[in-house]
Amino acid sequence: MRSPFVRRFEFAVPGRIIFGPGSVAEAGPAVLALASKRGEGAGLGHKPRLLLVSGGNEVRLASLVASLDAAGIEHISFEIRREPRFEDARAALELARLSDCELVLGFGGGSALDLAKAVASLLANPGDPLDYAEVIGGGKALAEPSLPCIAVPTTAGTGSEATRNAVLSSSEKGVKVSLRSPTMLPRLAIVDPELAYSLPPRVTAETGMDALTQLLEPMVCSSPNTLVDALCREALPLVAPALLRACRNGNDAEARSDMAYASLSGGMALANARLGAVHGIAGPLGGAFPIPHGAACAALLAPTCEANVAALRSRAPESPVLARYAEIAALVGGGPSLRAEDLAPALRDLASRLEIRPLRAFGISESAFPGLAVKAAASSSMKGNPIALLPLEIEAILEKAT
Ligand code: NAD
Repeated sequence: MRSPFVRRFEFAVPGRIIFGPGSVAEAGPAVLALASKRGEGAGLGHKPRLLLVSGGNEVRLASLVASLDAAGIEHISFEIRREPRFEDARAALELARLSDCELVLGFGGGSALDLAKAVASLLANPGDPLDYAEVIGGGKALAEPSLPCIAVPTTAGTGSEATRNAVLSSSEKGVKVSLRSPTMLPRLAIVDPELAYSLPPRVTAETGMDALTQLLEPMVCSSPNTLVDALCREALPLVAPALLRACRNGNDAEARSDMAYASLSGGMALANARLGAVHGIAGPLGGAFPIPHGAACAALLAPTCEANVAALRSRAPESPVLARYAEIAALVGGGPSLRAEDLAPALRDLASRLEIRPLRAFGISESAFPGLAVKAAASSSMKGNPIALLPLEIEAILEKAT
């Protein structure tokens, strides 16, 4: 469906995107080009040094490290094996400072990429990470441009290689919040679909549902963007077939490539529009319970769409967003659709074929719902939702997802 008219918009993407199977082998020369622009005047024989943030899996890292070594780039490793917390950012930052790193490269899922982006930005902005955090922190502007950051995703989900925020968890407050700055966009994103071949079916499915959410929420959000809509319309139909195939056969080149592209598109979409209630609820959930971000989005997506459509029908029946939901139902289900109400059943069907786990599998129970609803209502993503949801409506979403 055509947008009614083109509104004012901005659109920002990583400085350079290299996409394609095997593209990780191009990392060395591409990083060197970034480093030499920065190190002009550093003298001949200057060896750029980067902080390499990853999960530490040597087999997955091999082709990246070979390419960096061949280009004469020194790297210092920092390993992150969980969704990053503020204390991880402090530790990585200290290592980067002590080692005099001038670039930061994140290699992994959203966890490694976000930590790398946070460190690259904090290296240029003094103080504690919490000073710059939204919602629970000082909310200070990250005024100084980030050091060059290179993002190499190995999951197809978060699109963090193309976003301007980094999500960190606060163990004390039990929430996940973002550091955010336009200069946090990576200077270079290398998206090599082959890096995800090793991703097990469950992680493929859950992270893939995050990608789907990030293509869906920006299309119905409170700050739509015409270019974002174009990206989402192209990528949304790819997701369901590619996810089902990639879960059956991890080495399916076309499915992995489609998912890598969908995830990158989702990142560009959320960076230039907004998200909504799925992410608004997933943040507090992930801060309070040991649930991977993708799993939270996967369980919440259908009930949230259902609640949004019902709330729009009753409180804003003339809203053009209802037509958007109908359009998305056709895009994700592959067939023509007339009603916004067709979306939730299509998403439920996909979730069940992907064996998405309900929230109760992560120990989440009814007693937590009121507290989670309050935190979700205060989140930054919730402000992008197409309609303000009442606390009871948020609790009902949690109940259906559990
Ligand atoms: P993840 O990075 O935590 O990775 C999930 C698991 O998969 C980990 O155990 C990891 O080691 C493993 N893994 C990664 N790549 C693999 C591969 N190729 N083969 C086998 N195993 C592999 O998960 P994620 O969903 O990619 O990232 C989640 C984080 O990203 C959360 O903290 C979330 O809040 C954040 N996030 C950030 C943004 C953003 O715009 N910055 C957007 C959405 C989510």
